[in-house]
Parts: sequence; C-alpha cells; structure tokens
Amino acid sequence: MSDCIFCKIINRDIPADILYENEKVLAFKDINPQAPLHLLIIPKKHIASATQLDESDYSEIIPEIFKAINHLAKEYKVSDKGFRLVNNCGRDGGQTVDHLHFHLLADRQLQWPPG
Ligand code: 5GP
Ligand code: ZN
Repeated sequence: MSDCIFCKIINRDIPADILYENEKVLAFKDINPQAPLHLLIIPKKHIASATQLDESDYSEIIPEIFKAINHLAKEYKVSDKGFRLVNNCGRDGGQTVDHLHFHLLADRQLQWPPG
C-alpha cells in the first residue's frame, strides 16, 4: 500500500530502527516509546487490522509473528521477567496505523487495566 507508513518502512522508503526481519515479518522500534523497550512487530504483507486476516494469514503469517515476538523477547532478555503484547484494533481499540502490528512493551512494571 503506497500510502501506508509501515509499508514505507518495509520498503525502506522511510527510516526505522529495524531489529528483526525475515521473509514474512519485520520488527522495529516504536518512534514514540511508551516503555524502555517498545517494539512493533508487523507482517510484511499489508493487512489493515486483526479483523482483516484471510484464511492463509492464519497459517502463514500469524505463526511467524509469534515466532518473531519470542525471538525478540529472548534477545532483549524480557522473556523471563515479562512483557506486554498489545494489538490495538479499529477506532475504539485505539489503532492509528492501519497496518496490522503488535506492540511489545517491556523493561518497566506495566499497569493494568489500561485506559
Ligand atoms: P497504534 O496506535 O496504531 O496501535 O500504534 C501505532 C504505533 O506506531 C504508535 O505507537 C506510533 O508511535 C508508531 N509509529 C507511528 N508512525 C511511526 C513511524 O513512522 N515510525 C515508527 N518507528 N513508529 C511509528
Ligand atoms: Zn501497510
């Protein structure tokens, strides 16, 4: 999607601090971090939100996203102490970028419930 900011990051049209990449998934630092460690894990395929997955995405993309999350959690040494995984979906969910993404927040004690 040419006007999607995360597709632009995937295509290296705009810079980002990219930490992990494979054929299906990209992970990079959030530009406005809400925790000392705040990563975004995204599919390289443009999927607008968690409600817009097609049948093949369940088997081909979602597992790769969770593998990347666990790889990163280990690499950044938050696997044991814990972290928060967030997907904001749609308007009421607070989604601001319409390309599916998971936030990985860590390295501070996070409060619950969120606002
Ligand atoms: P959402 O509110 O859609 O769940 O999260 C979008 C996230 O993308 C926000 O945390 C925001 O800081 C981040 N973000 C927006 N634009 C950019 C950008 O150009 N680069 C990076 N690295 N993060 C971005
Ligand atoms: Zn996109």
